[in-house]
Amino acid sequence: MTDLLHAFALPRLNVRGAAVRLRDGFEQILSHQPYPPSVRTWLGEALCAATLLITGLKFQGRLSVQLQGGAELALLYVECSSNGDCRGIARIAEGASPQEFEVATRGAAMAVTLEPLQGERYQGIVELQGATLAECFENYFARSEQLPTRMLLCADDAQAAGLMVQKLPESGGIGSIDRDGWNRCEHLVSTVDPLEMLSISSEQLLHRLFHQEERFDRTPLPLHIRCRCSRDKVSDVLRRLGRDEAIAAANEPGGAQITCEFCGKVYRFDVIEIEQLFRPIAPGAGRA
Ligand SMILES: [Zn+2]
Repeated sequence: MTDLLHAFALPRLNVRGAAVRLRDGFEQILSHQPYPPSVRTWLGEALCAATLLITGLKFQGRLSVQLQGGAELALLYVECSSNGDCRGIARIAEGASPQEFEVATRGAAMAVTLEPLQGERYQGIVELQGATLAECFENYFARSEQLPTRMLLCADDAQAAGLMVQKLPESGGIGSIDRDGWNRCEHLVSTVDPLEMLSISSEQLLHRLFHQEERFDRTPLPLHIRCRCSRDKVSDVLRRLGRDEAIAAANEPGGAQITCEFCGKVYRFDVIEIEQLFRPIAPGAGRA
């Protein structure tokens, strides 16, 4: 088991945080998408960020992060649910070969979307600002939630890691809180070389940083790459395409073929199946 999310609290410092390591899941995502090295890195970092952010949710549901409209990086999308299911994709602008994050994402906006299982969806959108993805998140929190946040993200071709600490709002009247706590916490985090996070476990990292602090850990959450695609959802896509186009696709050799961009799963439909998709549903009949 390599993919774990460790959420923790440092009550004396009035800080909450999380650390994550991704290996198996990250490999799984990369296995069916020939992304260039730079994009692999950003996708790994973004996945880590999404997992770190779910530790702050007060509901069961899903959180997604979307960077859209960059000069070279057309889309970077990652999501993570409160039960640890993750997935992500990237799309490169036509003809681009992105190298530098700041150049690739020039002009992009970042949206963070919260989707509770029950209740209203919430979306915060900001213009992307930062030389690295981690910096963009720090700026996002500074602007949208006014929560001082430090985030470290790192990924290579095979694994990814992240660390986040957040200063909680002062609740007042708690005499035991260390007033210099946030400064000390920031200083400790600044001693971490992001690359170091790829060579040690989250437990080792947290111990190295906070062994002198009172720390409460939540039970680590196992993370899994799990796609939400289904034949039913693909059928809906084909219905939206329209009967004539769907039939034309089904008449191609091998039938109509739709590949899920997230997981690489291929869905095939022959002409008879396409005809069935467009058959009016008899009143009172359930969908098969
Ligand atoms: Zn899928």
